Amino acid sequence: MAIYNNMQIGKPSYKICPHCWKINQYHRGPFFIHYFGLTVWSDGETFEELPSRIKTKLQKCHSCNKFYWFEQKLGGMSSDDYEKAVKHYQYKYSKKSIVNLFFNRRNKRRLLYLRLKIIQSYNDAIREHPLNNSKSKKIIISESERRIFEENVKLLISLLNELKSNDHLLLSELHRYLGDFEKAKEEIDKVEDDNIKKQILGEIQAKNRDVITLNSH
Ligand SMILES: [Zn+2]
Repeated sequence: MAIYNNMQIGKPSYKICPHCWKINQYHRGPFFIHYFGLTVWSDGETFEELPSRIKTKLQKCHSCNKFYWFEQKLGGMSSDDYEKAVKHYQYKYSKKSIVNLFFNRRNKRRLLYLRLKIIQSYNDAIREHPLNNSKSKKIIISESERRIFEENVKLLISLLNELKSNDHLLLSELHRYLGDFEKAKEEIDKVEDDNIKKQILGEIQAKNRDVITLNSH
């Protein structure tokens, strides 16, 4: 079977945009496909054998370009989309309303999701896709991009401490990206998987601040 970049599998479904009522077409994930060649990265990102199959919990309307929460679609969002979305929702959730009060925790979980996506898409600039045949990407990251990244890392750390303080691997990684190696070590010491612990400790010792692939698969 040939694999194309924009290959979409299965019949499309439709979802009405809650902003402009346009009916957007989307594809559900091809759950029947057997995964192999999975690569797991230390920021939680995974690469599978089909590079075009990206799932996201957030959608952007094809017509009005506004965002709405809806899971499972083929085709992802760009890092710009995620940055715009996080600004949009941060503002929306900061308003004092009964709804925001009621959904306070859910809103924070959504911001956590978006900030993690921003970090993962930043890391995409330096990671190599396993199907790339190690054709290395030579992308130069600007200082302002790095600043946005680090700002997101810090905000994500505080969201994690509040909502998922037992995600010690991710917390350790975030501190490592910031160059805060002592805190990174503190967190990784709490991870139970000895293999992962050893690997990350090696990176901490080498003072590496980049995302890495995990050897556990
Ligand atoms: Zn719309």
